[in-house]
Amino acid sequence: DAAIRLRAVTKIYDSGVPALGPIDLAVGRGEFVSLLGPSGCGKSTALRLIAGLAAESSGSIEVAGQATPPRGGHAIGFVFQEPTLMPWASISANVALPLELARTPKAETAQRVAAALARVELQDFADAYPRQLSGGMKMRVSLARALVTDPDILLMDEPFAALDEITRFRLNDDLLALWRDLGKTVLFVTHSVFESVYLSQRVVVMSPRPGRIAAEFSIEAPEPRG
Ligand code: ADP
Ligand code: ADP
Repeated sequence: DAAIRLRAVTKIYDSGVPALGPIDLAVGRGEFVSLLGPSGCGKSTALRLIAGLAAESSGSIEVAGQATPPRGGHAIGFVFQEPTLMPWASISANVALPLELARTPKAETAQRVAAALARVELQDFADAYPRQLSGGMKMRVSLARALVTDPDILLMDEPFAALDEITRFRLNDDLLALWRDLGKTVLFVTHSVFESVYLSQRVVVMSPRPGRIAAEFSIEAPEPRG
């Protein structure tokens, strides 16, 4: 069964803008799927609905077999386009935030934060502050924060769009390695054809007004998965 399933989902914002749908989409457990399309086609809206950050106007959404909000919680890690780090808090405190909100015991928090920072190779920056880090490093902090609760599903909204190309290529490789290691379900929003083809097993192409699925194709894995 699917990790994420949308059935005839629409979203009309209060302003009357028909942003989405109806769309049907199923993402399998452990699958890496890209949502590709031009600005304004509803990619972010789709992710926010799946994360439970906004409510669908009609249709139904299931995440990990659960239909009713509040979804998310520990099932989902969300990486936004901007790293959205707290500037006054250390890197480790930023990564610890989701655990603190969940009242995780201190010892477990420390251990999970250390593991998440090591996972993105920022273990030496635990006590640094966001302003001391480059854009790519901040994005890795944001990824560590999304992973620290060990969610099954990672939702990523154009995470690398603001970065230079070299940093972006490196982060693409880091993300792929991580996905292969951890076996997470990833839904990755991008308007880069290159990125979608490079990263994912399946590309879902969206078109605007309102956002719909216009096409979909699978990409053969370059090496056997396991
Ligand atoms: P992106 O295309 O990268 O998702 P947008 O520029 O569409 O970014 O949106 C940035 C933010 O502004 C989002 O939080 C979105 O919800 C909000 N937003 C976008 N369009 C509108 C709109 N027409 N009215 C109100 N808020 C909007
Ligand atoms: P994308 O992520 O593909 O750029 P969005 O999901 O951000 O697309 O936006 C889809 C449509 O919904 C756009 O027309 C956008 O202006 C509109 N929109 C997005 N967020 C809001 C919002 N919070 N309020 C009103 N309209 C919005």
